[in-house]
Amino acid sequence: MLTLPEFDFIAPQTVPEAVELLAKHGDRAKILAGGTDLIPSMKNRLFEPDVLISLGKIPDLNRIKEDDSGITLGAMVPISEVAHHPIVVGQVAVLAEAAQKIATPLLQNKGTIGGNILLDTRCFYYNQSYFWRKAINNCMKKDGDICRVAPSGHRCYAISSCDTVPVLVALNATIKLVSEKKERVIDLKDFYVNDGMAFNKLQPGELLTEVFVPRPPKGFRGGYMKLRRRQAIDYPMLGVMIGLTLDDQEVCKDARIVLGAIFSSPFEVEAAGEALIGKKITEKDIEKAAELAYEAAKPLDLTNFRPAYRKRMVRVFTRRLLQKLTNPSSYAEEFAA
Ligand SMILES: Cc1cc2nc3c(=O)[nH]c(=O)nc-3n(C[C@H](O)[C@H](O)[C@H](O)COP(=O)(O)OP(=O)(O)OC[C@H]3O[C@@H](n4cnc5c(N)ncnc54)[C@H](O)[C@@H]3O)c2cc1C
Repeated sequence: MLTLPEFDFIAPQTVPEAVELLAKHGDRAKILAGGTDLIPSMKNRLFEPDVLISLGKIPDLNRIKEDDSGITLGAMVPISEVAHHPIVVGQVAVLAEAAQKIATPLLQNKGTIGGNILLDTRCFYYNQSYFWRKAINNCMKKDGDICRVAPSGHRCYAISSCDTVPVLVALNATIKLVSEKKERVIDLKDFYVNDGMAFNKLQPGELLTEVFVPRPPKGFRGGYMKLRRRQAIDYPMLGVMIGLTLDDQEVCKDARIVLGAIFSSPFEVEAAGEALIGKKITEKDIEKAAELAYEAAKPLDLTNFRPAYRKRMVRVFTRRLLQKLTNPSSYAEEFAA
């Protein structure tokens, strides 16, 4: 049986208290949100913090607000609320769709949107027990020197595996980060780094307090497809988010194609989106965009699907999503709220 290491547990009741505690304990502390990722990782001895600062008693972080400009989700809003709350479903159905595809209903009840945005990168050689990792002499991301996926490489290739993030990036979401000394708002697309170890720009002492999702423009259609072995529980082996904005004549004004679970950060295939803009999208345009997405994706061998298969599925999912989003009748059935 895998047991937890010992730690002190603190549950502040306000954000200022939480950031004060973070400043005080520094890297001896970890933030605990729903714990669905952190607790198993602690059992695997990937993290052994002396102190856990729980956000569970801070009501301000568990609110969903809506105004004309968009929706604000507190960092502690559960994934199940993102998946089913009428405000989210009504305004950004594609975000609800992605949240519904995370893990299982029980994990969705416990896991939070903040935890999803800050989810650790994953890899076959890293997300294992201490004994398993020790038996292969560890990997670069924890206790070792080399990356087991690309031993001659100079960085860690663990992948970004959070289902809501490609969607939030395509929706131009921003996040608010608060520390004892300052507060900053950053575009989510600029928050991530394509490095499995230093995969985001969260600074020491910073707490994620909220994510803002702007109201999509008129004519927006979005869809998210996820590759996984089982239709529940499994993390994405690939996620494809497509957001199109079409005018009244069905001409594409904007197109965003963002891939998840391929690199250490979400990856926007800008060339594929640009290939669609200004056009009344035809089957030929769809093939072109799908091919560009396929070419851009370079998955490595660190999941339980072969990289060549994940790469091919980028083309398949991009094509299928674009066909559905540009066919209004199938859009109404499968994507509308
Ligand atoms: C069996 C299983 C299957 C899963 N399947 C999926 C899946 O299909 N798709 C998917 O996206 N995820 C999946 N997950 C991962 C996880 O359940 C979700 O990503 C969830 O949203 C994480 O949220 P949490 O609140 O539990 O995060 P935690 O585990 O509490 O935290 C995750 C990390 O974020 C940090 N953190 C959390 N909140 C904050 C904050 N506000 N400020 C600063 N730091 C913070 C923590 O310190 C920790 O490092 C799965 C997990 C399990 C166990």
